[in-house]
Amino acid sequence: MKTEYRKLVKTMKETRMNCPNGHGKMASKKSEKKTKFRGVDLNIPVEDYSCPVCGVEAGTVDQTASLQKAISEAYRKAVNLLTGKEIVEARKRLNLSQDALAMRMNVGIASIKRWEGGQIQSKSMDHALRLALAGQTSGDTCTGNRPFSLPRIKLVLKQFESVLGKNILKKNDKMLFAAKYLWYADMVAHRELGESMTGSTYAALPFGPQLNNYRDLIDDILNADESSAKPLASEEKKIIARIAMKFSKDQMVYDAAHRERVWKRQANGAIIPYSDSSELTQV
Ligand SMILES: [Zn+2]
Repeated sequence: MKTEYRKLVKTMKETRMNCPNGHGKMASKKSEKKTKFRGVDLNIPVEDYSCPVCGVEAGTVDQTASLQKAISEAYRKAVNLLTGKEIVEARKRLNLSQDALAMRMNVGIASIKRWEGGQIQSKSMDHALRLALAGQTSGDTCTGNRPFSLPRIKLVLKQFESVLGKNILKKNDKMLFAAKYLWYADMVAHRELGESMTGSTYAALPFGPQLNNYRDLIDDILNADESSAKPLASEEKKIIARIAMKFSKDQMVYDAAHRERVWKRQANGAIIPYSDSSELTQV
């Protein structure tokens, strides 16, 4: 049975890889392609098909996907980040499920799946991965695995303002709406990238999730110098754009936050942990 199945797959592949110019079967070839990715020169092993008659080249959808993965692997190797393959191997050596590794690091299982599948982890997440794979628990459920930064809060809010086209950072408004945009940005970044954007801690207050001790922070946020913050990564900007698009009006982000179970179930004033980020329902 097994041999027959193999034969069938082979036949299907062969018929699919006919030259589009009508020269019949194309030949599979392995080679190395030089490419530049994020400023680093890489040699990528590739497998594609070429026609021995006219020289036209083609790759299957599978090959295109594996090419992207190969670039990610080669890049991570070159800049000394754990590759997806290395993460999988180390995790299996420890007999850990993706979920168990996620728990050790205080990240969502989606992050582990992405890093193993080809998404490139940040330097700090690479560090956390290495600690977790060395048997240590790491991560901070109050700050979402990032040091608290006032300038970054301002940077994120400014980014929201530029996407939304309006001011959300106002004096004396208690950040009623700004805090909810910020909360979603931090929580979604934790869920999808493994770390929050600002390191802020949030409390469940009657009018929704709010920066812990926000009264003491408002002036410092308004006066912070956002140019001293670590610039936003493109993944972070995309998350902010997504949230802003979903909640184009203040009332929308307010109502959405009030529908979140992770806020509702906390006692008044209790910290909403980042480990709840996987349970968000509105973004
Ligand atoms: Zn041809």
